[in-house]
Amino acid sequence: MKVTLQNLTKVFPARGKKQQKDVIAVNDFTFEIADGTLIGLLGPSGCGKSTTLHLLSGLQKPTSGKIFFGEDDVTDLPAENRGVGLVFQNYALYPHLTVKQNITFPLENRKGKDKLTKEQMSEMANEVARLVQIDGLLDRKPAELSGGQQQRVAIARALVKQPRILLLDEPLSNLDARLRLQTREEIRRIQRSTGVTTIFVTHDQEEAMSISDLIVVMKDGVVQQIGAPQEVYDDPTNLFVATFLGTPPINVFDGYVQQGKLYIGTEAVLETAGVPDGEVTAAIRPEGFVPCAEGRLTCRLERVEVMGRDISVVSAHDSAKAVSIRSIVGAEHLSAVSGAQVRFDLKPNKVHLFDKQTGARIRF
Ligand code: ATP
Repeated sequence: MKVTLQNLTKVFPARGKKQQKDVIAVNDFTFEIADGTLIGLLGPSGCGKSTTLHLLSGLQKPTSGKIFFGEDDVTDLPAENRGVGLVFQNYALYPHLTVKQNITFPLENRKGKDKLTKEQMSEMANEVARLVQIDGLLDRKPAELSGGQQQRVAIARALVKQPRILLLDEPLSNLDARLRLQTREEIRRIQRSTGVTTIFVTHDQEEAMSISDLIVVMKDGVVQQIGAPQEVYDDPTNLFVATFLGTPPINVFDGYVQQGKLYIGTEAVLETAGVPDGEVTAAIRPEGFVPCAEGRLTCRLERVEVMGRDISVVSAHDSAKAVSIRSIVGAEHLSAVSGAQVRFDLKPNKVHLFDKQTGARIRF
């Protein structure tokens, strides 16, 4: 099912002392989500991710703008009539019901022509349980399951209704690191095999990048960039997006451009033909540094961390915004990196320039 957001806006009005100013939680969000895609909504705490999900689910009403599921305008449709499957961070399973009863619960109250027999419900529960691979656990109570298994039950319960869209709000937050990794792959597999259009909220960039077809990066209610994860990583539209994506994070420097060259400190480190003279913010991905005896950027070497295939060179520079610069280079450079200084050449496609005031990208 295609989902369209049209100028979607949600304002929480000021409420005297408690909240002195209006909060624009979602600000003029327009986007068409193609049928069957998995969208990762990503951004720091308070950027409006959950509010966007609540607007889609019908739990909250937009201040202005519209939402369409396919061609249906669902903006004023109550949550229970939208055909949305919702999965939250806390799985909210009923502790006194078995796994199977938890899954069939949303089917129990169907009336009239939609009413299902016990056998039909059982068959549907078995089918989704197989899909999320909990078919061996149907008679257990939630307390007898691991966190990952409980989350699968919550997903099964959302899917059994054959929702038009599936909304996942930080579904992995309560899981430990290993289980998170495994469960996110599961979500991807389940989404692929059902083909249900899915919107997934997380503040974890790695999680969003690893499983989403498209990511939407938000800040202060405003969409900053939408694109395939690699595309957004490689071609960020502004400094916020560049710094939000990537581990280790992108290295940010104060720099300036003079006669088609980028200077960091006193060194001309890169050709930047076409960029007007003036101060800029330069950001360099960790994989953009190439150690080289005659390299153009000279940094103070602090330490080298060996990671097997790669090494992480930790250095410092007076023009860097952070205390340490982290670069990731091939282990074959290990012998070349020693002493008090390290010199780097820079890979041009890993260096991004931004306006010093606005943070907007300056292309070259
Ligand atoms: P988090 O990752 O912390 O859950 P988020 O990106 O999901 O954050 P939202 O919960 O959508 O952010 O909140 C966006 C903004 O709207 C925040 O500034 C928040 O304080 C505000 N907000 C959310 N719900 C309400 C509400 N019911 N009343 C007033 N303000 C609200």
